[in-house]
Amino acid sequence: MKPLPFAKPTLDEETIAAVVEVLRSGWIASGPKVQEFESALSQYVGGRTVRTFTSATGALEVALQACGIGRGDEVIVPAMTFAASANVVMRVGATPVFVDVELDTRNIDVQALANAVTSRTKAIMPVHFAGLAVDMKGVYEVAQRHGLRVIEDAAHAIGTRFEGKRIGSFGDIVSFSFHPNKNMTTIEGGALSLPSNAELEAIELQRFHGLRREADGSADVLLPGGKYNLSDVSACIGISQLKQLDGFIERRHALVARYFDRLQSASPCTLPKRGDKDHSWHIFAPLLPLDSVALSRGQFIKAMHERGIAVGVHYPALHLFTAYRKLGYREGDFPNAEKIGRETVTLPLFPTMELSDVDRVCDAVGEVLAGAGRHR
Ligand SMILES: *Cc1c(COP(=O)(O)O)cnc(C)c1O
Repeated sequence: MKPLPFAKPTLDEETIAAVVEVLRSGWIASGPKVQEFESALSQYVGGRTVRTFTSATGALEVALQACGIGRGDEVIVPAMTFAASANVVMRVGATPVFVDVELDTRNIDVQALANAVTSRTKAIMPVHFAGLAVDMKGVYEVAQRHGLRVIEDAAHAIGTRFEGKRIGSFGDIVSFSFHPNKNMTTIEGGALSLPSNAELEAIELQRFHGLRREADGSADVLLPGGKYNLSDVSACIGISQLKQLDGFIERRHALVARYFDRLQSASPCTLPKRGDKDHSWHIFAPLLPLDSVALSRGQFIKAMHERGIAVGVHYPALHLFTAYRKLGYREGDFPNAEKIGRETVTLPLFPTMELSDVDRVCDAVGEVLAGAGRHR
C-alpha cells in the first residue's frame, strides 16, 4: 500500500514552471518576485504592511529585536508549541515565561496568561495552535491593560480567522511560516504582518545587514543586522501557493470532517476542538487513550508505520526540554501541556489526500488500539 506521510506540500506543474522561469531569469535572490509576494500577502491580510523572511523563526527573532525586547525582559509563551516560539526569546537575550494551555483548544489559557504578567513582561507570544485562533479578545485585553506588545506566532494559522477576520489582518505583529509542512510553503520562509510602519525600518535593517541605501547611491550600516531575506525562487512558489491557499484549507476541512465522522463516537481517542469554518486545520492531532490502553505512543507510531502511515508528534511540552529545564521548569508545572505532550499524535492531513486515505488511517488507528489490549 502506498506510504502516507503526515504532511505533504501541494506543488502543481504551473508552480514548477514558474520556478524554472525565475531560475532562467538570472535574478534568483530577493527581487521583483519578493515584492510581488509581499504585496499579495498584504492584500490577503487586508492591506497591512508585510515583509518576508527566510523562516518564521527568523521573522519572530527580528520582530522581538525591532520591538526592543532583550536582556531583562520577559515574554509570555504557551508551554505547548514548537521550540522556535521560545528559542527566539532566548536568542534575543530575554526570558520566556511559560503558561499552560487549554486541553481542548490547545491554545494559551488567557486567565493563566493574565496571572503570569510581571513588571518585567514586555510581550505576549500567543500561538494559534493547529490553525485554531487563540481568544484574541482576551489576549489583547491583557496586553492593553499592561501595555504589552503582542507578537502572534501564526505559523499554523495563515488562512485562519478569528470571529470572521483573518489572522494577520488585525492586532499587533503577526508572524507566518511557509515551511513545507505548513498550510502553504515557499520551501523555507516566513512573513511578518505589521500594524503600522513604526517598526518597519528596524525590521528591514535587522533583516538585511543593518544596511541602508542613501538617495545618492551610497550605503551605510546602521546596526549589526542579520540576513533573513527570502529568495525570488521561494517567493514565486509563495505567489502560486497563496492563490491556492483557500482551496487547500477547504480540502483540509473536508478531510477533517471525515476524521470526525469516523472517530468521534467509534474511537477512544480524545479529538481536538472542532472549531468552525474559521479554523484552518494545519494539523489534526487527537490524544491517545494511553491511560486505558496497554500501549505506548512509540509503539502506536511504530504500528502505524508498519501499516505505511506516518504519524507526527506536535509537540512534547516545551518547558520539559533540557534548554528550558535549565530555567527551573519541572514536571507538574503545566498539566495540560504535559498531558497533550505525552498523548498527542498527528495523523496524516494534506490537500492531496483522499477521503479513502482518511478511512485507511482510521481503520489502522482502530486496529492498533484494539490489538493492544487494555490496562487491568
Ligand atoms: C513551524 C513553526 C515555527 C517556525 O517556522 P519556520 O518557518 O520553520 O522557522 C514557529 N512556531 C511554530 C508554532 C511552528 O509550528
